[in-house]
Amino acid sequence: MTDLAVLAAGFGVIPLAAIILYTVTTRVLAYREAAWGFLAGVLGFLGVSHAMAVVLVNHSLLGDLVAATVLSFVGLAIGAGIAWLLLDGPFIQTEPNRILWAAVAFLALHSFGDGLVLGGDFTGAFLPTLRLDAVTVTTTIAHRFAEGCLVVVPAIWAAWRPRPAFAVLFASLASIPAAYAPGWIFASFGFSPIPRALSTFLAGMEATVGLMLLVRGFIPIAAADRGTRWPVWIAIGFIAVSLVHFFVE
Ligand SMILES: [Zn+2]
Repeated sequence: MTDLAVLAAGFGVIPLAAIILYTVTTRVLAYREAAWGFLAGVLGFLGVSHAMAVVLVNHSLLGDLVAATVLSFVGLAIGAGIAWLLLDGPFIQTEPNRILWAAVAFLALHSFGDGLVLGGDFTGAFLPTLRLDAVTVTTTIAHRFAEGCLVVVPAIWAAWRPRPAFAVLFASLASIPAAYAPGWIFASFGFSPIPRALSTFLAGMEATVGLMLLVRGFIPIAAADRGTRWPVWIAIGFIAVSLVHFFVE
């Protein structure tokens, strides 16, 4: 399991590197259309396209149609509820902090999902067939780094200091326990639908948190200067993170 420990730690820790954006805060704030547009594309892919693809694929593979539907529905509904509470509920007062905390929730959910995928390769009788070459390592770093930026850019925008911003980035470490979850479940229950059910439920939550954060936070901020380039940046972010996913999950 040493390999899994190394990979899980890497997966969890890479997003923390996004804190480096604090060295270019004036640029992040000045290039609003590019920074928020690009990240809106990343968020659109990860939250809406990718997470929903996981829900749909698992839905068809879970076996029990009714259970799969209930599980997916409840995940989607809870995610929408969480996103609403963070973005428009009574708990967080200022607008930039609302977006930041919703982004932290998204990063935590997404990281947990990433960890489950990673750990799922290490269960069962099969040896993991993970390719560890320059391409997969580079694309994994790019993928996880971009996810860290989803939290750091809102933190810069909310005028958070680097230290607390670094602390909330720790949400990405959710991938570490998640990477071990499939192994624990396999050890306790043998082959079971639990990991797939868990991943369906979490991906449902991730999809609606991502959707609401996208339309309520990232797109309006990217478009707020009434520029014309933000839709292009959204497409660039979306396509870039799609390319990354052709090489790694
Ligand atoms: Zn990811």
